[in-house]
Amino acid sequence: SILQDPAFDEKMSEYGIDTHVEKAVPEKIVALTFDDGPYADVTMRILDVLERYDAHATFFVTGDRVNRYRDCIIRATNMHCEIGDHTWNHTTLTRISGDAVHKQIWDTADAIYNLTGIYPKVMRPVGGSYNATVSANVDMPMILWSIDTNDWKYRDSQHVINEVLNYVRDGDIILCHDLYETTATAMETVIPALIERGYTLVTISELAEYKKVQMQNGKAYASMRG
Ligand code: ZN
Repeated sequence: SILQDPAFDEKMSEYGIDTHVEKAVPEKIVALTFDDGPYADVTMRILDVLERYDAHATFFVTGDRVNRYRDCIIRATNMHCEIGDHTWNHTTLTRISGDAVHKQIWDTADAIYNLTGIYPKVMRPVGGSYNATVSANVDMPMILWSIDTNDWKYRDSQHVINEVLNYVRDGDIILCHDLYETTATAMETVIPALIERGYTLVTISELAEYKKVQMQNGKAYASMRG
């Protein structure tokens, strides 16, 4: 968008025109999230659709895939998508010690930082499972979801499309997995349909910013509905 082009802003300022505008809060926003990847065959297709519609999403990656799929993570970062932390090797955090939770999270955070120069700001516990020990050791807000597409279970594009388009509301966090071709295919319908309905597709951090939610480390967020 021309309004986000610093070169344009600078050129206009030479003519004494101030192009800086307050960032307007979109009327309806939704956060698509993709867990367990990256997996290039699927993640790249989802990024293609996001790019086509200038949309953002969040990818909750496991640390053990970061270097194998670095191109996906770098491309997503360059597109202003968010990379979240989904443990090192998809461990259910309620089954391990606090120190082990800490290591799962920070080994992954360091791998993401070493690749992108950006530390993840949010994490998603595997299976949405957490307890007091997990909360005390994740050092990040825990992001759950308000719409579960069950894409991993059905592997059916139409099911994903229906789950999103039948139930979506402003402030929702939608759970998908970038492991299945059927999920990428669903996104080719879901993303333009959401935009057609007036939704802006944002990352988790953008969702919190727009909804003025001050996320706290160790606290769980399933949606930011108004
Ligand atoms: Zn997962």
